[in-house]
Amino acid sequence: MTAQEIRQSFLDFMAQKGHQVVPSAPMVIKDDPTLMFTNAGMNPWKGIILGNDPIKYPRVADSQKCLRVSGKHNDLEEVGHDTYHHTMFEMLGNWSFGDYFKEGAIDFAWEYIVDVLKIDPKNLYATVFEGSKEEGLGRDDEAAAVWAKHLPADHILNGNKHDNFWEMGDTGPCGPCSEIHVDSRSEEEKAKVPGRELVNKDHPQVIEIWNIVFMQFNRKADGSLEPLAKKVIDTGMGFERLVRTIQGKQSNYDTDVFQPMLAKIGELCNCKYGVEEKTDVAMRVIADHIRTIAFAITDGQLPSNEKAGYVIRRILRRAVRYGYTFLGMREAFLYKLVPQLIADMGVAYPELVKQQAQITPVIKSEEEAFLRTLDKGITLLDKLMADARNAKKTEISGVDVFTLKDTYGFPLDLTELILRENGFTTNEEEYNKALEHQKSMGREANKQDLGDWNVVREGDTEFVGYDELEVETQILRYRQVSQKGKSFYQVVLSKTPFYAEMGGEVGDTGKLSVESLEFRVIDTKRENGLPVHIMTELPENVEATFVAKVDAERRQAISCNHSATHIIHYALRQVLGEHVEQKGSFVSPESLRFDFSHFQKVSPEELRKVEQLANQLIRQDLHLEESRHTPIAKAKEMGAMALFGEKYGDDVRVIKYGPSIELCGGCHVSSTGRIGSVRIIMETSVAAGIRRIEAVTAAKADELYYGAQDMLNGLKTLFNNAPDLMAAIHKFIDENAGLKKQIENFMAEKIERYRDDLIGRAEDFGDIKLVRLTGEHNPEMIRGVMPLLRGKFTDVKFAVVAATQFEGKPTIAVFLSQPLVDEGKNAGAMIKSAAKLIQGGGGGQPWMATAGGRDVNGLNAAMEELVKML
Ligand code: ATP
Ligand code: MG
Repeated sequence: MTAQEIRQSFLDFMAQKGHQVVPSAPMVIKDDPTLMFTNAGMNPWKGIILGNDPIKYPRVADSQKCLRVSGKHNDLEEVGHDTYHHTMFEMLGNWSFGDYFKEGAIDFAWEYIVDVLKIDPKNLYATVFEGSKEEGLGRDDEAAAVWAKHLPADHILNGNKHDNFWEMGDTGPCGPCSEIHVDSRSEEEKAKVPGRELVNKDHPQVIEIWNIVFMQFNRKADGSLEPLAKKVIDTGMGFERLVRTIQGKQSNYDTDVFQPMLAKIGELCNCKYGVEEKTDVAMRVIADHIRTIAFAITDGQLPSNEKAGYVIRRILRRAVRYGYTFLGMREAFLYKLVPQLIADMGVAYPELVKQQAQITPVIKSEEEAFLRTLDKGITLLDKLMADARNAKKTEISGVDVFTLKDTYGFPLDLTELILRENGFTTNEEEYNKALEHQKSMGREANKQDLGDWNVVREGDTEFVGYDELEVETQILRYRQVSQKGKSFYQVVLSKTPFYAEMGGEVGDTGKLSVESLEFRVIDTKRENGLPVHIMTELPENVEATFVAKVDAERRQAISCNHSATHIIHYALRQVLGEHVEQKGSFVSPESLRFDFSHFQKVSPEELRKVEQLANQLIRQDLHLEESRHTPIAKAKEMGAMALFGEKYGDDVRVIKYGPSIELCGGCHVSSTGRIGSVRIIMETSVAAGIRRIEAVTAAKADELYYGAQDMLNGLKTLFNNAPDLMAAIHKFIDENAGLKKQIENFMAEKIERYRDDLIGRAEDFGDIKLVRLTGEHNPEMIRGVMPLLRGKFTDVKFAVVAATQFEGKPTIAVFLSQPLVDEGKNAGAMIKSAAKLIQGGGGGQPWMATAGGRDVNGLNAAMEELVKML
C-alpha cells in the first residue's frame, strides 16, 4: 500500500465503525494561550474534553497535522539523527466522547492493524499502566484484560507513569494509556533478544506506533485526581511510523513519504542518500523541516522574531545550517523544494497547493537573510579568534560565544565546530551562566500560577454580545491567577455580552454590578473556547445575580474598525487584484491593522484608490446582513472569503456588507455609515510578499484630520497667513540656501585672511618657517586654516605650533607641511605628549593634530614641549 492508501484506509475503517471523519485542524494555534502548535490529535478536541463545548458527534476520527518542537513535547534535537521522530507529522486518531471506552478502543485498534493491515501479531507488544503508589492508583487491569483477548501474556507489558499515564498539561484531563509497539528487527536478532526487552528502550527498530489514552481523571491544581464525568478515548497513531511498518522498512525516511523528497534534495545539493551518515542526517533534517516550514506558513504562521514565528524561523535556520555545514550549500535552496513537497502532499492537503505563491518567496527571503547572518557571524568569529591569537590564548570567552548566538543568531554548534577546527575552546561555564541568566529572566516574565476553578453553579455559558451589551447574569465559576507578582481573577458567566479576544479582535471591557457595587472587567479572553472575564477584584457574594455591562463606546469603536477591515479587504482586492488574501489582522478601539499577500509596495495612488473605494462603500450605508448558522459549503458558494489555516465548524457566521462577504466571528456595526470614514495611515512590509496597512476610522479619523488641519493652520500663522503657503515655504527654503552659501563664503574669506595673518607671523626656526601662536584664538579657526596651509606649503618647511585659549579652555595644535612630515616628524605624536601638560587628550594625523584640555596654566609648558619636539 502507498502512504496515500494507508491514510485513506484508516479513515475508511473508522468511518465504517461509526466515526465522523473530519479534516485536520490547522497546525498553528491562534487562540489558546497554553499552546502555539497542535502537538497531538486531541488538541482540537480540548474544548469538548474539558466539557466547555457540546458533543456534536460522540465518535470522530481524523488525520491531524502535528508539530512537536516546543513546550511539553519537543523532539527537535532528535529529528534527522534518528529515523522515527519528525518535527511535523501526521497523527491518525479516533475519539470517543462518553461513548465506547477501553474495550471498544483496543478492539478497534486491533482489528485495524491486524485484520485490515495484516501486521503480524507476533511482532506486536502492548503496554498497560502498572499503577502508582503516590497517585493511589492500581494497575490498569481492565485494559490488560482486553489485551489478553488478543495477545499472549508475554506480549503485554507493564509501563510506568512516565510512559503510560498521559496528561494534557499540569492540570486538566488525564488518565492511563496503552501503547502499541512494533518489533521490526530481523528474525535473527529477534531470536537473540526478545522484543519485550526492547520496548520503550529507544531501540530504533522497536518503536511505539499507537497510543490509546483512557481519559478518566481530572488533575487539579493541588495535584489531586478526581474522576471525569464523561470518560474519553483519545488515540494517536504516528502515520509515518505506520507506513514504514506496512512497507517493511527500517526507517520512516525509506518510505514513499520521504523518498521522492530525498531524491530531490540529492539532485539539488549534489549528494546521495545512504552513502555517508553525516550527509544522511543533513538530508533527513532538510526533508523533515521543509514540511514544517511550508505547512506553518500555509496555516498562517510566518517566520518572525517572536513566539511561534521564532520557533518556525529556528527550524528553517536549522535546515539551512545543516545544508551549509554538511552539504556545502552556500545559497538559498530550500524554497526550490516546495514543488516536490506539493507533488508529495498536495492531494491530501490542498491548502498547500493554493498557498504555493506565498510559501516560496517567504522561504527564499528567510534563507537569504540567514545566509547573510552566517557570513557576518563567521567574520565576527574570525575576529574573536584573531584577538585571542594575539593575546596568546586558546580559549574564547563563553560570553562572546553566547552573544554570537543570542544577539547575532549565529548557531552555537557551528561556532563550536569552527572553534574546534581552529584549535580553540570556549569556556562552557561562562556560556551556561549567560544562558541561565537569560532563561531565568524569561521564566520570571512568563510565570503564571493557576488556581483551581471554584464552581459556583453548574451550567453552560452563553454569548449574547452580538445583540446585547447589557444582561443579567450569574457567575458559574472563577479562579485566581497570579502572574508577574500581580494577581487577578478569571470569571466564567452564565450569560455574557463580553466578546472574548479572537480572530485579531481585542476582548471587551466593562463591569459587573450588583446593587450599588461595581466590579471592573479589564479584559475578556478565550480559553479552550470558553469566554473568561479578567477581573482584578471579586465580589464578596459570588452567588448574587449581576448586571454585566460592556463599555459601549469602546465596543462601538472596535466594531467600526472591524467592519472597516472587511471593507478595506474588499477594496484591496478590487484595486490590487484577487491575489490579495488576508494574512493577519488586529482590531482595537484605536485602529485596525491588516496584513495581506501582495508582492510589491502599494503605491500612494493605489492606496488613495483603496481609501476612496472604502469610503464610498461606507457612505452607501450598506446594511449588515448577518447569518449566524450557515453551512460552510453554502457560505463558500456565496463567495465568502475564508481564512486559510482557520478552524471553522460545520456552521459558520457570515458577515455581508453589499459586495463584501466574509466568514467572521467578530463584532460589527449595523450599517457601514456608522464607520463615518476610514483613513489609511501607514503601509509597510511585514515579510516577503506580505504588506501591512494600518488605518483609523470614526472619531480617530476625525482626530487625524484635525491634527493635519491644526498643523496647517500653525504653518500659515508662521508664514504670516501667506495666501499661497507652498510658494511661501519654497521661497523661504531658497532664501535660506542663499544665506547659507553667503555665510560659507564669508567664512572662507575670513579663514583666508587668518591664514595670511599667520603666515605674516612666521619666524625662522632653523630651516623651518615657524609660527608660535599664543593668547586668545578660536580653535575652530585654527582647525579650519590648516588644510589651507597644507595646500599652500607643499614644498616649504612650514609649521604652526599653537598653545592658545578660548573662553577659558586651553587648546594646543600643531600643523606640519608635507616636507616636515616626509622627514619623519609627526604632529599627532607631538600633541599626544604635550596634551598631558594641559590635562587633556587628543590626537590627529602626522600633518595636523589638536587637543583640548582643562588646565590653562599648563599652556606655557606645552608650548615649550611642542617647540622642543619640533
Ligand atoms: P515516542 O516515545 O516515540 O516519542 P510519544 O510517547 O511521544 O512517542 P505520543 O505522545 O503517545 O508519542 O503520540 C502518539 C503517537 O504519535 C506515537 O505513538 C507515535 O507513533 C507518534 N509520534 C509521536 N511523536 C512523534 C514524532 N516526533 N514524529 C513522528 N511520530 C510521532
Ligand atoms: Mg515523544
